[in-house]
Amino acid sequence: MVKDKIHALKQQFQDDIQTHSTESELEQLRVRYLGRKSPIQDLMKHLRDVSQEERPLLGKEINELKGFVAEALEAKRQVAEESAMQKLLSEERVDVTLPGVRKPLGRKHPVVQSLDKAISILKDMGFAVEYSPEIESEFYNYGGLNYPEDHPARDMQDTFYLDKNTLLRSHTTNFQQRIFETTTPPIRAISPGKCYRNETISTRSHVFFFQVDGLYVDKGVTFGDLLSTKEEFYSRFFNQEITLRVRPSYFPFVEPGMEVDISCTNCGGKGCKLCKHTGWLEVAGAGMVHPEVLKTGGLDPDVYSGFAWGGGIERLCMLEHGITDIRLFTENNMGFLSQFP
Ligand SMILES: [Zn+2]
Repeated sequence: MVKDKIHALKQQFQDDIQTHSTESELEQLRVRYLGRKSPIQDLMKHLRDVSQEERPLLGKEINELKGFVAEALEAKRQVAEESAMQKLLSEERVDVTLPGVRKPLGRKHPVVQSLDKAISILKDMGFAVEYSPEIESEFYNYGGLNYPEDHPARDMQDTFYLDKNTLLRSHTTNFQQRIFETTTPPIRAISPGKCYRNETISTRSHVFFFQVDGLYVDKGVTFGDLLSTKEEFYSRFFNQEITLRVRPSYFPFVEPGMEVDISCTNCGGKGCKLCKHTGWLEVAGAGMVHPEVLKTGGLDPDVYSGFAWGGGIERLCMLEHGITDIRLFTENNMGFLSQFP
């Protein structure tokens, strides 16, 4: 009987819809009950077999069943859609009370911080900043600075040559002849930058390092001017009263030449581990500009005199912060570098 079948189908649908809850499950159910090949469509075909009197009534009942199935599915689909939306919202909710992810701020390398500090002090003291090339000719690095042809520093063992006449500068003193070409005395200038030497890397030396060279040329510049300038600079740099000591030494571009020591920044000269109990720290080379260098620069050494110095910045940075190994500066160890705010 068609009527029984309608009743059974309704029962079956009511059972099925209980176990289908997601949108896709409900869609499958819709196709099964209302699709072209569904049992409800089949019932419509059976209407042909029933009597004329029964047909309108059964037709109406089948349509009611279709309506019932469609409505029930749509109602449940809306519930499913709503809960899916709620689930998505709760999953994607932003918890504004959670701590943020902090991006570390970049900062200057400790050596660059010390370099900037040295430049700033020397600028305040009246020195102009001059930059010269890191790739340099032999003349500006050696010949023009009174280095004899056979000077050991010119050797391949100590200098990185790019070709016979071109090298990576071994000191920032390479600015001296350059500045003589463009400037007339009074000359008060510093040359900061990176230098290269073919040395064995150890706790105290590296193949590249920063230097600041200074040059003061005018009429009547004296050795006393050199000492007072250096003493003033180191006192300002280390923010304490610094005493200077000089020891005779040899650099081809100065005469006399000397090593400059400062009173120990750690013990004030009493003696400690840092100064190896001598009370003194070696910081720079210096001297009065050699007459030959002035002559090469077109200046009469009977009229003009001057002083010059050069010192490594890594050394100052190490003394400033109590660092004992120069290699730490080039290892890119964030634990080390992040200690310098
Ligand atoms: Zn000391």
